[in-house]
Amino acid sequence: MSNNLFDNTKLAFELKSNNSLRKSLFLFNIIKYPLIVKLGSVLIKFFLKLKFPITPIIKNLLFDQFCVGLNEKESLMTVKKLSKYNLRSILHYHVEGYESEKSFDKCLANTIKTIKSASKNSSIPFTVFKPTGLGSLKLFHKIAQGLVLNDREKEELQRVEKRFDSCFQSCKKNGVKILIDSEESWIQPGVDLLVEKYMIKYNKKDALIFNTVQMYLKNKIKYLEYLLSFSKKNSFVPGVKVVRGAYMEKERSRSKRLGYDDPICNSKIQTDKNFNDALKFLVKNFEYFNFIVGSHNEKSSHLLMDLMKKNKIKNNNKNIWFAQLYGMSDQISFNIANLGYNVCKLLPYGPVNEVIPYLIRRAEENSSVRGQSSRELDLIKKEFKRRRINS
Ligand SMILES: Cc1cc2nc3c(=O)[nH]c(=O)nc-3n(C[C@H](O)[C@H](O)[C@H](O)COP(=O)(O)OP(=O)(O)OC[C@H]3O[C@@H](n4cnc5c(N)ncnc54)[C@H](O)[C@@H]3O)c2cc1C
Repeated sequence: MSNNLFDNTKLAFELKSNNSLRKSLFLFNIIKYPLIVKLGSVLIKFFLKLKFPITPIIKNLLFDQFCVGLNEKESLMTVKKLSKYNLRSILHYHVEGYESEKSFDKCLANTIKTIKSASKNSSIPFTVFKPTGLGSLKLFHKIAQGLVLNDREKEELQRVEKRFDSCFQSCKKNGVKILIDSEESWIQPGVDLLVEKYMIKYNKKDALIFNTVQMYLKNKIKYLEYLLSFSKKNSFVPGVKVVRGAYMEKERSRSKRLGYDDPICNSKIQTDKNFNDALKFLVKNFEYFNFIVGSHNEKSSHLLMDLMKKNKIKNNNKNIWFAQLYGMSDQISFNIANLGYNVCKLLPYGPVNEVIPYLIRRAEENSSVRGQSSRELDLIKKEFKRRRINS
């Protein structure tokens, strides 16, 4: 496999005008400093609380880099552009922080709307939802702990199950697959129980439902092994999206505060090993699993391509997908899609104020010495040079 594959910036940035590249350069230059990102996120929250009109600044700076539009209509324009490069899209109406039954119903309605529109567009094979968009964190936590639910909670669970089921029914009817995001480790076992139940029901011949597995958690190879044997016992096709995991600091500080073992791998090297072991396990069992690898890591992307080659799996095998988030690692997405692999971009959209937690997570992820920014910056500078223009 060529080491230079991801250096092809011409293809990676073909959709970017000079101006939009300049905007990206400015943003990645700012967010490469963790202190600025930390301070910025505190200030954003503070100003929003005081109802300061900062939305236009966020829209121009962060939103335009990491989100595709305020509504579905705007987002579909990006879907169309990406499809010309053999890139498929996952539309995500991305709002967080739902707490009331009314807001869970609203989230369900929006997810079903996205499923229906995906069904009309062959460039959108998947949709996605966050479990805490359809049910309360508190309830998932109680289930995760194996605690007995009281009558009120039992009714609440029934409503959550009904929402999950309506969502999956709609996917089945409309021929659209669905990814379920993973969240904090202390609620995830509650989510897993529910998702596994629906995989038995809906993943009969093919995976309709994909659960997310965060490989920064120490025990997740065991979970994949469990899922394989559980699926064989219950005759369903396990669908998984593997990622490294996005809530490291929150996880570490909670375990410290409450005095339990840190569930996250002790080092980045350990997380990388876990992640790469997961790829090896999934490729070895690719006839059972349908899987999506959500990562911006070039080495992991190379590893997956190499493993597929070694196992004589065709680039476009329908069971294996690569995925990256919009606004990040276009050098991976565009270049591997060009080689015929199945690649998706996850496209978040929604009102600016509602996607702010997502935008802050993306800024944090790109921050830090080992963060993504420096790679993005190098590539953008390289492209400026290639276009013979000044940054
Ligand atoms: C399509 C897609 C979907 C995603 N969906 C989810 C989701 O549902 N839930 C979710 O939590 N995340 C999700 N993510 C984000 C993902 O978990 C990672 O945060 C992000 O992709 C960065 O990891 P990486 O593999 O791209 O690359 P890298 O930049 O190589 O890895 C960074 C990651 O390594 C881990 N890490 C960093 N430092 C350390 C350390 N000191 N010790 C241990 N581990 C460390 C962290 O997980 C960090 O995010 C998604 C990402 C993509 C691309």
